[in-house]
Amino acid sequence: MSTRRGGYGEKVRCPFCHENDDKVVDSRVADDGAAIRRRRECLACGRRYTTYERVEDIALLVCKRSGAREPFDRAKLRAGVERAATNRLDPGTIDTLVAGVEEELREVGGEVASERVGVAVLERLRGLDHVAYLRFASVYKGFEDLADFEREVGELQKTTEPKQR
Ligand SMILES: [Zn+2]
Repeated sequence: MSTRRGGYGEKVRCPFCHENDDKVVDSRVADDGAAIRRRRECLACGRRYTTYERVEDIALLVCKRSGAREPFDRAKLRAGVERAATNRLDPGTIDTLVAGVEEELREVGGEVASERVGVAVLERLRGLDHVAYLRFASVYKGFEDLADFEREVGELQKTTEPKQR
């Protein structure tokens, strides 16, 4: 029968016969990506029903350097990327980037270090726009002086192919 993908797709109790055995027949993103709508079929009675899973309901915690944990906040991440990408990247590109980062983090699931969030953003920005990359890196890595900045530029030049103009 169908192979259930890991992560989001848990079995759900059938509202009709209360058996805990269903298959997902259709999954789609709803509510601008904040929810997943699943059409399910009960394997016991054959009836179909729909579930909505709020992405926020699926716990993802970010562990900060201080040791504090907070729920992953997409809006906050997007605001940080937007700030770095001002006049550099269009909103659609930022959306794609943020969605990609979130997807990567949710694949890890549970708890992720804040460093990992930053690195996931930087990896993507590096391939998109060096100015946005450096802006994000300077906030994220807490650059304190010009030497920090120059070191990062050096790293960037070492690790990226020269772009064709
Ligand atoms: Zn049923």
